[in-house]
Amino acid sequence: MRAIQVIRHGGPDVLDFGTVDDPIPAPGEVIVRTTAIGVNFIDTYLRRGLYPSVPPYVPGSEGAGEVISVGADVTDVSVGQRVCWVDAPGSYAELVAVPAARAVPIPDEVADDIAGSAMLRGLTAHYLLDGSAHPGVGDTVLIHAGAGGVGLILTQLAKLRGLRVITTVSSDDKEELSTAAGADHVLRYGDALAEEVRSLTDGRGVAVAYDGVGADTFEQSLASTAVRGIIVLFGAASGPVPPFDLQRLNPAGSLSVTRPTLGHFIADTEELRWRAGAFLDAVAGGDIDIRVGQRNRLADAAEAHIALESRATTGTTVLIPG
Ligand code: NDP
Repeated sequence: MRAIQVIRHGGPDVLDFGTVDDPIPAPGEVIVRTTAIGVNFIDTYLRRGLYPSVPPYVPGSEGAGEVISVGADVTDVSVGQRVCWVDAPGSYAELVAVPAARAVPIPDEVADDIAGSAMLRGLTAHYLLDGSAHPGVGDTVLIHAGAGGVGLILTQLAKLRGLRVITTVSSDDKEELSTAAGADHVLRYGDALAEEVRSLTDGRGVAVAYDGVGADTFEQSLASTAVRGIIVLFGAASGPVPPFDLQRLNPAGSLSVTRPTLGHFIADTEELRWRAGAFLDAVAGGDIDIRVGQRNRLADAAEAHIALESRATTGTTVLIPG
């Protein structure tokens, strides 16, 4: 089969398109012919060696496609079924081995490119609202990178839960997208951000600050959060937050900081199914709209990485094999 390989740690140029061996299904696994492959920020962290990985390897963890064979002991997934997944290593490929228990059936109403590129971000948005924090109806939350993949989904899910949403974006076009997703106030990054957030919240600050940008925004997140509020630091698009003195959380308002990762909120297959079902139902029912902002051929995965890392993307990014 054809696949992308990370041949060494480095920039997007280390993504090599070539031929590798077809996967063989182990007991409990299915083989899927991919129709859509999700590109996520974590793929870039792993490629650069920021998170541990050992080249050469086929990157990617998310996708959608059709089951073409099943291994021993697989009873609940069948050949021909459309499925998607978020945690199968080696997904930048024409064929992917997926544990049958982690293969999620795609509802008829949901297109492959949406299921294949929005599940990881959708499940993330779901646990950010119902897992790592639990904002209640009427609470105000701050969401950085409001026009990004996670940002657009998180904003829509937050509005469905009756939250008031303040987002940050870097351009007028992104502001338009964030507003269309339901953000009540869309702000720009910068030193005045916390002051603006305070003035929109009668001086109190937000109940939860969702920060996937990291180094460039963390101080403003801290200054924007209300007494007893929580900062959910869930990513590092601008780089990791430098070492931090926990004592600062005391005068800042008895704040909490958490640094969650999706894997811990879907490790249990029942929890995965619950979150995936809720997310896909919301998409299928038209309650949330998924913006597939970029489409690239699998062979052009490097272009997708360049766009993601240079803030040129909105919504999700999908690779199409063939
Ligand atoms: P996005 O589509 O949100 O892209 C990142 C956005 O961050 C950019 O578009 C940009 O928006 C903003 N940004 C600000 N500064 C920078 C910078 N210096 N370089 C690049 N981008 C910057 O990406 P995703 O939706 O894929 O992911 C969002 C975040 O969520 C990432 O940090 C990712 O690692 C994290 N994540 C975490 C998970 C978890 O479980 N912990 C799971 C999934 C994602 P703008 O131009 O408007 O500032």
